[in-house]
Amino acid sequence: MATIIPLPSREAHPDRDAEARRRMDRLNRATTGEMQAALAFLNMIDPEAFDIAFQAAPPHLDDLPDGDPAPACGRCGGPVALFPDRALTWHHYRGAASTSGDQEIIDRGHDPQVEWRHPDDF
Ligand SMILES: [Zn+2]
Repeated sequence: MATIIPLPSREAHPDRDAEARRRMDRLNRATTGEMQAALAFLNMIDPEAFDIAFQAAPPHLDDLPDGDPAPACGRCGGPVALFPDRALTWHHYRGAASTSGDQEIIDRGHDPQVEWRHPDDF
């Protein structure tokens, strides 16, 4: 019995780079509705891949307990922020996050790896 949704078939000797480029082209052309349908389908056929894919996106506020998520460095756990006078790039800093102008950019010896964390996770 044929499936309702056509499943992609694989070539015997696939060109992985070309396949990756084709998938990115497809993603770049997709509408929001198409992306939502594709992720809903992925959720049905491979829930683990669905969860892995969503690690690339900041957590949705409805999925978190009370409190706003804040950016932190995934390497050292320190707070990070975008600084408008530094070409809007991420930097480690010290000082109060809630008071504008009280932050001092610090060098921790590596580029920040930005992750979004709930305040309870700090
Ligand atoms: Zn760091």
